[in-house]
Amino acid sequence: MEIIVTQVELPVDENLSVKKMRLIPKGVTNIEGLKRISIVTGIHGDELEGQYVCYQLSSIIQENIDQLQGIVDIYPALNPFGIDSISRGIPAFDLDMNRIFPGRIDGDMNEYIAAKIIEDVQGSDLCIDIHASNIFLTEVPQIRINQLHKDMLLGYANNANVDFIWVHGASTVLESTFAHSLNVLNTPTIVVEMGVGMRITKRYGDQLLDGIFNLMNLLSIYDDKKIRNIRKPIISDGNDDVLFLNAPVSGIFIKEKEHGSYVWKDEVIGNIVNPLSGQVLAIIQAPGNGWLFTTREYPVVSEGSLMGRILKEAVYQEVR
Ligand SMILES: [Zn+2]
Repeated sequence: MEIIVTQVELPVDENLSVKKMRLIPKGVTNIEGLKRISIVTGIHGDELEGQYVCYQLSSIIQENIDQLQGIVDIYPALNPFGIDSISRGIPAFDLDMNRIFPGRIDGDMNEYIAAKIIEDVQGSDLCIDIHASNIFLTEVPQIRINQLHKDMLLGYANNANVDFIWVHGASTVLESTFAHSLNVLNTPTIVVEMGVGMRITKRYGDQLLDGIFNLMNLLSIYDDKKIRNIRKPIISDGNDDVLFLNAPVSGIFIKEKEHGSYVWKDEVIGNIVNPLSGQVLAIIQAPGNGWLFTTREYPVVSEGSLMGRILKEAVYQEVR
């Protein structure tokens, strides 16, 4: 059933409503005691990879409703106006929604909505918050975990069928995110980053769906009949595991290496060129051997722009 999680009347004769789809086992009237998973996406309006995952999840479970044993809550658009207007933040407020959690019931409209969302998701046995990097970068399917919540989350992350788990240090900036707010409230929430902004990469969506079904099976939320080959992810847990590539000059980036490639030291990742003069302004080379798990997608770069991230060989080899 479709449920309105929170709704606010706007002065322009419009409604801002955040909706979810709740799926429960057939014939069940009392849901008390049932396990619950929440699948959340669309905090950033320009990240659409999660839309495909929500659609498929909802559709597959409804087709196989007899296998459902718990509650599945699907929230496809936490920032609905952002998605409708192709903007990353909350339009008109120029506000990153992932910086206002846990929100405040007595706060302004956006804080109120944030608080109502947290109230609704809190208490889930597991929450998965799906992001898609941004329009500038492409990411291999990965889970980012704050060091503070590693013990609570690593077991789930290992079973989510992603390629990579990045455990990062605590940062005050990240304390106002949706995931952090729920983790602090003891609702385990993992953040998935995959693909690229404004696009849907079906194979990544299908990969994550296998992970979600695997997790739902482990949590006794869904009796999964399908055999799924779950990947063993590479885990980075050190501060110096990742090499960052930044643009030394402004220009147009022509990439040579796809994300997910293994690269050798000095191998050319791409060139920054000047289309007017026909000159190569900078050659972007790998600073060391490793796995290129993030690449620059958007061709226009300014000096300092992030061009990619490489997981160092030693960490990569440990797993492979
Ligand atoms: Zn995001």
